[in-house]
Amino acid sequence: MATESTIEVAGLHVDTRHFIGGERVESGDTFRNTSPIDGSFLGDIARGGEVEVDRAVQAARTAFPTWSRLSPQERGAILHRLADLVEQNLDSFANLETLDNGGLLRSNIRGVMPRVAHNLRFFADYAVNDLSHPDFETRGHTNHISWDPSGVAALITPWNAPLMLATWKIAPALAAGDTVVLKPAEWTPLTASAFADLTVQAGLPAGAFNVVQGFGAEAGAALVAHPGISRISFTGSVPTAKTIARAAADNLTPVSFELGGKSPCIVLDDADIELAATLAVEQYDNAGQVCLSGTRILVHESIADAFAEAFRAKAAALTQGDPRDPASDIGPQVHQKHFDRIKGFVDRATAEGANIEWGGEPNSALGGLYFKPTLVRQPAAGSEIVTQEVFGPVLTMQTFSTDDEVIELANGTEFGLAAIVVSGDRDHARRITERLVAGTIWVNCFFVRDLRAPFGGSRKSGIGREGGTWSFDFYADVKNTVVAPTGWKTSS
Ligand code: NAD
Repeated sequence: MATESTIEVAGLHVDTRHFIGGERVESGDTFRNTSPIDGSFLGDIARGGEVEVDRAVQAARTAFPTWSRLSPQERGAILHRLADLVEQNLDSFANLETLDNGGLLRSNIRGVMPRVAHNLRFFADYAVNDLSHPDFETRGHTNHISWDPSGVAALITPWNAPLMLATWKIAPALAAGDTVVLKPAEWTPLTASAFADLTVQAGLPAGAFNVVQGFGAEAGAALVAHPGISRISFTGSVPTAKTIARAAADNLTPVSFELGGKSPCIVLDDADIELAATLAVEQYDNAGQVCLSGTRILVHESIADAFAEAFRAKAAALTQGDPRDPASDIGPQVHQKHFDRIKGFVDRATAEGANIEWGGEPNSALGGLYFKPTLVRQPAAGSEIVTQEVFGPVLTMQTFSTDDEVIELANGTEFGLAAIVVSGDRDHARRITERLVAGTIWVNCFFVRDLRAPFGGSRKSGIGREGGTWSFDFYADVKNTVVAPTGWKTSS
């Protein structure tokens, strides 16, 4: 039964309070949480600030000696139990996330929540089996490299894939022996709270994992400025990253930033046009709220019309609707403010005379936060619709005639997160990929993600790389111990 401090959503009793030191903690104030699907009220969520953040950091610091002294195997066993619990509750968590952020239920069931469990298992196992560097000799001295727990990791996450992106940080931080304070996005706080309950069931020591809910300028700002944290891992927008970097500078806290993008989807003249159109339409995934989306389609002029026709046919087959309906391909935007921001971009492009080939307006038949998948053809070079991140179902299409021209267009923004290249010629594709500025490039594919691979952005798309050893290099203190061959009283 739902109580005063829990709400019943998707069959789960979700606590609306913070989770600090293994206990639920109230705040004097709350904020409203509504569903983007239909605006329905989900609950009043505890709104944290300096007091709650300080309490959570102290709890994490108190738990640090216990958690950090466990072996990677012991920590791994608890993370595996946590993954088991996510899998046992997969349908409820998928439904909860869909209600809170409007993502497709079928994607949450098939892809996103299994990925949450995989994040936990992968980093648990990586710390046990893969986190090592061979010793090496320097004039007879042995260099031994180790990854020591560093302290309290502050994790700040966005709303577009809430629990998936949170566990992509929680898992390596805990596996490295750090303790954690998570500040989830204020538009989508629910799965983080439900996850906190699972950490109790999995046997995580009290204080090893804490959640403080609230707004960025309050709870988030207090957390990143706290002198008791050892790391800040942030996924979100460039303006917020700049604010966090300033706060981090005061304590010289190391930061890892996964930021926005304006990635190109390049269709070369030798591309398979059907494949190119399929990949281009996939960029509407999650209603365009994917940092990695190749939103700038750059097509060779010789195949532009054929591509546009194939694209149109595939885009026309998309169904927009309630994300819980298995027939839906595109759901709503996450929040009214975000919807208005997207509409603003499209309205200004239209006012400037851009050719809206497809969509370009709210889906009035559905109402609410549903914005039609949109294609803007030949937008003015340098205009905001081709240089700034819209983070909605809005793609642009530009043509090029030479490799030099497409490289200039592709690399011509302040971002460098990802790129897609569609080509039928391996040599041609390689000549292009070698010249692209991006943390991840997909050739004839999209969103193939392996946690062993480095992930991050160049330029303003981020600072640092996470994934595999790169994650541990960030969350841990990397140590080199140099042992001399002489001075020993014993022989072994
Ligand atoms: P945002 O920057 O507005 O908010 C992200 C988080 O930061 C939220 O939890 C918010 O409360 C918090 N925050 C806001 N102000 C803060 C402050 N002053 N101090 C501390 N925390 C603060 O971003 P958003 O709108 O939630 O997310 C969308 C952005 O995230 C897009 O730019 C998208 O590209 C990016 N993103 C990047 C990746 C990646 O891996 N590169 C993944 C997903 C999303």
